[in-house]
Amino acid sequence: MIYLDNNATTMLDEYAGEVMYEFYREKYANPNSIHSMGLEANRAMEESREKIAGLLKADPREIYFTGSATESINWALRSATAFRRKRKKVVTSAIEHKAVLNTLKDLQNTYGIEVVYVEPDSRGVIPAEKVIEHVDEDTYLVSLMAVNNVTGAIQPYVEVGKFLEGKDIFYLIDAVQTIGKLKFDFETFCDFASFSAHKFHGPKGVGILYVRRGTPLRPLLTGGGQERGMRSSTQNVPGIVGTAIALERAIEKLSATERKLKELREMIAKSVLKLGGVINTPLDRSISNTINISIPGIKGETLVNALSEEGICVGTSSACSSRSDGGQYVLKAMKVPEEVAESAIRVSMSRYTTEAEVKDFINKLKEIVSFLKF
Ligand code: PLP
Repeated sequence: MIYLDNNATTMLDEYAGEVMYEFYREKYANPNSIHSMGLEANRAMEESREKIAGLLKADPREIYFTGSATESINWALRSATAFRRKRKKVVTSAIEHKAVLNTLKDLQNTYGIEVVYVEPDSRGVIPAEKVIEHVDEDTYLVSLMAVNNVTGAIQPYVEVGKFLEGKDIFYLIDAVQTIGKLKFDFETFCDFASFSAHKFHGPKGVGILYVRRGTPLRPLLTGGGQERGMRSSTQNVPGIVGTAIALERAIEKLSATERKLKELREMIAKSVLKLGGVINTPLDRSISNTINISIPGIKGETLVNALSEEGICVGTSSACSSRSDGGQYVLKAMKVPEEVAESAIRVSMSRYTTEAEVKDFINKLKEIVSFLKF
């Protein structure tokens, strides 16, 4: 199998996996128990929190563990809304992940807030000035993704952060597609940021919510008082330990990975153009692991299935949304022609992707296209 769907999820880092196994089988105590095994688990968890905070230039008290990025996003958006005072307006973009879009829709239905969806340009980039232009006295929250998961386009989250710094407006950056792909830390201003371990070779079922010190936060889950009383639930110690290891290793290997994937992506781009295809990713403003392509005349789903039969897994547009609506809305918001949007597939690599695998993918793509087109 050749796996080229790493924006949907990634393979677990081998070392993280080994250490996690030890925590499942030997060091498995509840980190809130006061016996020696409990204390050991607690120590490992807190050391992991410190390691993560150090890597992201944050304070350990700013790091909360959750079950996924979707949960982190829900928490940030719902907490900001609880502290909105009389203000009603949220500024976001039309190409956010559904975790943001559908949570805001729910908040709109429940509290009657107003949501402004800023449209991207034709390259899939949200113009910073358009976000800024919509921020006014009624605005209590701005929510912007750092990198779009469907196209890989890098968004102006830094510029927007510079504008919002010092203002009494909550700012959430959905940073899920940044780790191991782009340098990201909290020298960038935001109140909240969401991450998901399984996107950077960590385990599934662990999310992180960064909350800047001083930002008001509503508890998400009440109960035993874990996560400093903000998210009760016994913590997933093996997952948290694995997350810290995976994060460290992803950041360590970032430059080498970027260099390698840029070259591999160039190879893919050249062959796609030769086949008469279209590249929907802005190659000069995107993470190097991602390329969204269309072969007009062949539906994305057909191509994904044909490649899958050849042992190659790519994404239609976004497997991290429900299967039915994928990431078509992102390409439509970019106003790409209908035929191009329908044909789109997303190829997303990781540091484990090899040149041989990419060559194999290109050859199979050529064969399938010539078979399906003629
Ligand atoms: N935000 C972005 C940009 C994503 O790509 C994803 C992917 O699934 C999410 C949020 C949600 O992450 P999770 O499914 O781990 O909750």
